[in-house]
Amino acid sequence: MKNYGFTTTILHNDRQKGIEHGSLHKPIHTSVTFGYADARQLASVFQGKEPGFRYGRQGNPTVAALEDKVSKMEQGLGTICFATGMGAIGAVFQALLRAGDHVVSSSFLFGNTNSLWQTVAGQGVGVDFVDATDVANVAAALKPETRMVFVETIANPRTQIADLKRIGQLCAERGILYIVDNTMTSPYLFRPKEVGAGLVVNALTKSIGGHGNALGGALTDTGAYDWTKFPNIFENYKKNAPAQWGLVQIRAKALRDFGASLGPEAAHHIAVGAETLALRMDRTSANARALAEMLEADERVAAVYYPGLKSHPQHGLAAELFKDFGSLLSFELKDGIDCFDYLNKLKLAIPTSNLGDTRTLVIPVSHTIFYEMGPERRASMGIADSLIRVSVGIEDTADLIADFRNALD
Ligand SMILES: *Cc1c(COP(=O)(O)O)cnc(C)c1O
Repeated sequence: MKNYGFTTTILHNDRQKGIEHGSLHKPIHTSVTFGYADARQLASVFQGKEPGFRYGRQGNPTVAALEDKVSKMEQGLGTICFATGMGAIGAVFQALLRAGDHVVSSSFLFGNTNSLWQTVAGQGVGVDFVDATDVANVAAALKPETRMVFVETIANPRTQIADLKRIGQLCAERGILYIVDNTMTSPYLFRPKEVGAGLVVNALTKSIGGHGNALGGALTDTGAYDWTKFPNIFENYKKNAPAQWGLVQIRAKALRDFGASLGPEAAHHIAVGAETLALRMDRTSANARALAEMLEADERVAAVYYPGLKSHPQHGLAAELFKDFGSLLSFELKDGIDCFDYLNKLKLAIPTSNLGDTRTLVIPVSHTIFYEMGPERRASMGIADSLIRVSVGIEDTADLIADFRNALD
């Protein structure tokens, strides 16, 4: 399967392993436990001496097929799936951090990741938030006990882009684990492995699943990080080759012990959605660009944030790193236009949360998903009270543009 393209590889990956009854989809295996040839084989699987499934919380054939698919998309060594994207991010902290460690994170973050960091900070781990659009800010925050640097590719909702390549070089020089949340770009638009990320987060709920009908998350080890430099690996897990240390410890200490396991039905939905990831990303990127250009040209709109616009501060960086600019944009209306009134006039775009859906979704950010963090932290993230986030869908472009323009009129 080495020389096939992105979509061909996803479509035909399951069949490479000889799929049950010639089924074209990996079947949904609901069994919690698994049978073995005899009791010795049972012991051997539990001791990790031969491959096999132990108990549904730690692994399942349908989920494993999706893990393999995500690994192919990210060109990584291996992947572990979780019940949600937050389950995957939480696993990083549960499995890899200890009291006294230090983390540097981008300050432009998904709201719940920001909230999770506050929790971690209360548990004896130092957390510093920096403007990661400039590598100098990351470098200045590093300490001898810094264990990881965490950034998103295109930050939600203001679309700031981390200085991905230079941060990767910095982490490589210092032997620090570099973790990139690739949710907004997806592996179709960008592979964090190319900028040296050791672990990649994907909220499968968003573009990869793509239809708003299943929650899921994934952590992929790209193979770029040398785990022998990581001081928090338990002796127990060092019996494996060093390339496996991270995944083995995360699967045991986070997935097994905290139990945020992805269910096989959700894995099936996500795997079906993933088949059209490339088609949808091409379409949503084109729609988003057209909508951003229309909004930017309208005098009733105060600001538009979209990496595909020349006016975006990191437009050049995005063009260099990403295949296209994605489906996320946000904008502010001029003073005097009430954002609630505006949203209520939209006929197609749906006021709700979620991202990466086939349908266009809109949300007044400060009043909903970023409400809890308060005005000060919102201001530090560049989030105005009137900011509207749009997750652009695959509707016909003319219909979409007309909907946003009619509401302005
Ligand atoms: C949605 C999202 C998450 C969390 O994913 P869930 O599946 O909702 O838990 C994490 N990171 C980013 C960038 C997201 O957009």
